[in-house]
Amino acid sequence: MELEDKETHYLSKFYQKSKSERIEALVKSGVLSEESAKAFTDDLQLSAEIADSMIENQLATYQLPFGVALNFLIDDEAYAVPMAIEEPSVVAAASSAAKLFAPYGGFKTATTTRTMIGQVILTDIPDCLQAIKVLEDAEATIIQAANDAHPSIVRRGGGADVISLNHIKEDIAAGTPEFLILHLYVKTLEAMGANIINTMMEAIIPLVEELSGGKALMGILSNYATECLATATCRIPSTALATNDWSGEEVRDRIVLASHAAVVDPYRAVTHNKGIMNGIDAVVIATGNDWRAISAGVHAYASRSGQYRSLTNWSKGENGDLVGELTIPLPIGAVGGSISFHPGAKIAHELLGNPSADTLESIIVSVGLAQNFSAIRALVTDGIQRGHMALHSRSLAISAGAQGDEIMIVSEKLNQSKNMNLATAKEILESFRQSE
Ligand code: NDP
Repeated sequence: MELEDKETHYLSKFYQKSKSERIEALVKSGVLSEESAKAFTDDLQLSAEIADSMIENQLATYQLPFGVALNFLIDDEAYAVPMAIEEPSVVAAASSAAKLFAPYGGFKTATTTRTMIGQVILTDIPDCLQAIKVLEDAEATIIQAANDAHPSIVRRGGGADVISLNHIKEDIAAGTPEFLILHLYVKTLEAMGANIINTMMEAIIPLVEELSGGKALMGILSNYATECLATATCRIPSTALATNDWSGEEVRDRIVLASHAAVVDPYRAVTHNKGIMNGIDAVVIATGNDWRAISAGVHAYASRSGQYRSLTNWSKGENGDLVGELTIPLPIGAVGGSISFHPGAKIAHELLGNPSADTLESIIVSVGLAQNFSAIRALVTDGIQRGHMALHSRSLAISAGAQGDEIMIVSEKLNQSKNMNLATAKEILESFRQSE
C-alpha cells in the first residue's frame, strides 16, 4: 500500500480518535516507528539534564501541544506534518486546506541553493573606494581564511565561495556615519549555519581590518536569508471552493481581492502574514529550528519593496482556477542546534521521513500557503470566528476551571451560547456543578 493509501485508511477521522489511537494510527500508516511511539507516553519530555545544559538559569521545561496536520501532498509526496503550537484551529485549518488541494496536485515547490550570508561591518575606513578595490582583489584570500576557520563544512562540500561589498555613505540628516559592509556567502548544506558562519565571520575580521584599514564593529550571520528562498504554489478549480452561501467563482474572486488588500494595506498585510506564520512557526518549532531567525527574515522579506506587504499572491488562473503562491526565506536546518537531541524535534523529523533541509523547506513553505488559504477563505465567507471560537471553546472551558469530562460538556454548551466568553464558560460550569 502506498503511504497515501495507508494514510487515508488509518488516518481517517483522526481528530475523532483518542490520543493513543492517533499514535497507533501513525505507526500503522508507516510514518512513525513503534520505538518512537513510546516517546509520546512521557509527552516528549526533555530530560532534566539536557534541559539544564541547553540554557542558563534553567528551572523547568515549558510545554506546547504537539500534533500533526494531515492530508498534505507536497511535490507528489504525502506528509503528516508535525506542529507545535498553543493556538486552537491552526492544525485543523492546515489539514482542511491540504485536503481540499490534494485532489488537484497538492503543493508544488521550488527552492534556491541554500546559501547563507555573513557580515563584517566596517567603520572608520580611511578611503572606502580604495578599500572596496583591495577587498575585491583579496576575495580568494578572504574566502580561504573563512573556510580555514570551519574546514569540516568544506569537506562536506559546502563553505564560503563569494564576497560582496556594500558601501553605505554618511547621512548627515539621519546622523549615521559611513559604513563598508562585507558580505560572505556560505553554503551551509544541511545546517542552518548560524554558528558555522559566526565562527567564519569572527575569524576573517583581522584580515578584513588589515586590508581595508578600517575597524570592524562586528562579524555575524545575517538572518535576512535572501539567498535561501523557498516557493510553494497550488491551484484549485473554483467549483471546489463553493459553500452553501457562496458560489465557487465568488469565493475565488473574494480570495483574490483579499490578496490585493494585503498587498496595498500594511495593517491587513501584518495580520495576513501572521496567519501564514501560524503554520510556518508551528512546524519550525516542532522540527527544532530557530523560529526567531525565520520570523525576522520572513517579515523583512515582506518589506523588501519598501512597504510591508502580503507574502502570498492569490490570482485567477487562465482557466479560471484559483492559483496561490508563497515565497519566503527559509534558512532552516535538518541538523544542528538542538535537532539531534530534543525528543520532540527528533520525532518531528521522523514523522516527515527525516527529510533533507531542502525538502523540509518545501514542506514548511507549503504549510504556510495552506494556512493562509484557510484563513482568507474563512474571512471572505463565513468569517473566522465561527470555526475559531468553536475550537477555542475548549480553552475557555479549561480557563473557567473545567476538569475531565466537564471540559467537553462546558465546551459544547458554550458552542451553543450567544456570548462565547470566559464569563459564560464560568456560568455554565457553575450551573453544571450545581445540577450534579
Ligand atoms: P551547529 O552549531 O549545531 O552546527 C551544525 C553542525 O552540524 C556542524 O557543526 C556540522 O558538523 C554538523 N553537520 C553534520 N552533517 C552536516 C551536513 N550535512 N551539513 C551541515 N552541517 C552538518 O548549528 P548551526 O551552525 O546550524 O547553527 C544553528 C544554531 O545557531 C541554532 O540553534 C540557532 O538558534 C543558533 N544561533 C542563531 C543565531 C542567529 O540566527 N542570528 C545566532 C547564534 C546562534 P561539523 O562541525 O562536523 O561540520
